[in-house]
Amino acid sequence: RTFYVNGDFVAEENAKISVLDRGFLFADAVYEVSTVLKGKLIDNKAHLKRLARSMSELSMAPPCSEAEIEAAQLELIKLNELDEGLLYLQVSRGVADRDFAYPAKSKSSLVMFTQVKNLLNSPMAEQGLHVISIPDMRWKRRDIKTVGLLAPSMGKQAALDAGVHDAWMVEDGLVTEGTSNNAYIVTKDRKIQTRHLGHEILSGITRHAVLKFAAEAGYTIVEEPFTIEAARQASEAFITSASTFVMPVVNIDGVELGDGKPGPVSKQLRLIYIKAALEHQDL
Ligand code: PLP
Repeated sequence: RTFYVNGDFVAEENAKISVLDRGFLFADAVYEVSTVLKGKLIDNKAHLKRLARSMSELSMAPPCSEAEIEAAQLELIKLNELDEGLLYLQVSRGVADRDFAYPAKSKSSLVMFTQVKNLLNSPMAEQGLHVISIPDMRWKRRDIKTVGLLAPSMGKQAALDAGVHDAWMVEDGLVTEGTSNNAYIVTKDRKIQTRHLGHEILSGITRHAVLKFAAEAGYTIVEEPFTIEAARQASEAFITSASTFVMPVVNIDGVELGDGKPGPVSKQLRLIYIKAALEHQDL
């Protein structure tokens, strides 16, 4: 597998950055994960736009132009002959002697790698996910996609330790999102409800596309936070992310939703999303 490090395409053993990199010392780095289907990047323009916003919110200089990032992404996909999977990219503020304040001068670093993953035919889409609720312990700017991921990492591990697949995080009694995905319920009157955008959650690229498709399919969208109790009473629930598309949730804190099988709305939205991704690339 070939890796990308600051302009070079190298083998894993040569893909190295400094111990003084601020991404390593301060989690002073932002990232994106884009889907690759049939060798093509899905909704990548939107991912690069969000990357630019994350960098801008942190006054981080872009490592190079957006066109250069995209050219490097395409080259890496080609070199690794990636057909279906994920492309991870990370920009850090770069190398500087350790100090909390941003260095006056530093050169942002850009690294990328690919991961082969079965996304279209995921067995979990047939079975549905089981989730537990946990307190949201993250910082207060979750709209910036930084690599400071210890809290969601602890949450995911707590879920696995509890014998389930993932965790929904709760703040002030309301669900924010999943550890690495946006969270939705389908109410008894068939409305699709998900938390509104703000500093409390990441503005998911998949969220944006799925809400657009759902509205086109005639669903009423309610962008308001919901409680775990409301989720347990919902007729369906699901999550979205670049790596899972639309994935049904069938059990929350041990309570089965409906008949405990993926519901029709989640299944329909998954199909619509996948069809569009295979046809258009930019959604
Ligand atoms: N929310 C969080 C906290 C995430 O980490 C992610 C993806 O990694 C998402 C939501 C979903 O975002 P996207 O649809 O852009 O993958």
